Amino acid sequence: MPTKPYNLFSDHLKKIFGRRIHKISVDAGFSCPNRSGTRNLPGCLFCNPGGSGAIGIRQGLSVRDQLEDGKEVMTRKYKAHGFLAYFQPFSNTFAPVEKLRALYDEALAVEGVVGLAVGTRPDCISAQAMELLAHYAHKTYFWLELGLQSIHDTTLSAINRGHDYQTFLTAFGAARELGIQVCVHVILGLPGEDRAQMLATAEEMARLKVDGIKIHLLHILEDTPLADLYNAGRIQVMEQAEYISLAVDFIERLHPETLIHRLTGDGPRDQLLAPLWSLNKWEVINAIHDEFRLRNSCQGKLIAR
Ligand code: SF4
Repeated sequence: MPTKPYNLFSDHLKKIFGRRIHKISVDAGFSCPNRSGTRNLPGCLFCNPGGSGAIGIRQGLSVRDQLEDGKEVMTRKYKAHGFLAYFQPFSNTFAPVEKLRALYDEALAVEGVVGLAVGTRPDCISAQAMELLAHYAHKTYFWLELGLQSIHDTTLSAINRGHDYQTFLTAFGAARELGIQVCVHVILGLPGEDRAQMLATAEEMARLKVDGIKIHLLHILEDTPLADLYNAGRIQVMEQAEYISLAVDFIERLHPETLIHRLTGDGPRDQLLAPLWSLNKWEVINAIHDEFRLRNSCQGKLIAR
């Protein structure tokens, strides 16, 4: 069994760069086709007015200033010297290619920024945008972060995702073809999904041998359609023990080489309605380690061979 029971992205970064690399989230002012009114959809049920963005982004600053701001904090706190610029909230390919290029270049020009991560939806990457992402994938250290959440179309429709699984497969295939590393975002605990369905998502991610995965726990944030359902008692959130056991079951089914970028979620403290236990992120991560130890298990142990 490896030292860590799973393949952590932060360890991988350390190996590649020889030092710790910190991600800095930036809000480049994009919107999202699922919320912009073009499709007459209210957006994903879990999405808040900030586009399910990061904690601590200072609104209204340029990309450069946000990164300088983040660098200052990271350097003071962790003596960090290397950074990935992470275009996080909303859909960061939802603009003409020239605008995308200018924003990504602005980030890369900041001293200490060693690469980019771009988060978006699978239905929001034009052929030209995909070519542009491929350009960065060959020029610098680069990740495309694709929101999927679930492989089940019934779930995607129930959460107003606005695209189906086939759309994800098409975008994923196009990115693969062009040599772009893809990190897939999934959510555990979506309304109406049972354990077997969530584990089927893990098995499918193993079949695709995705480069990276972010495992989110469903959060109920204030000012979201999900909050209304929660407050009306129409949906529930997971208990901590249930999540720990499910997360380990999930990781046991992933491909051993898939990099795990995130093991749980840490919603903004001032907006999180439930589950409040998730605020103790390190307690959750330690409990996941303990569960692996108890099972004498590791990532990929149950992968279908
Ligand atoms: S794709 Fe992202 S930004 Fe758009 S509605 Fe869904 S969570 Fe919000």
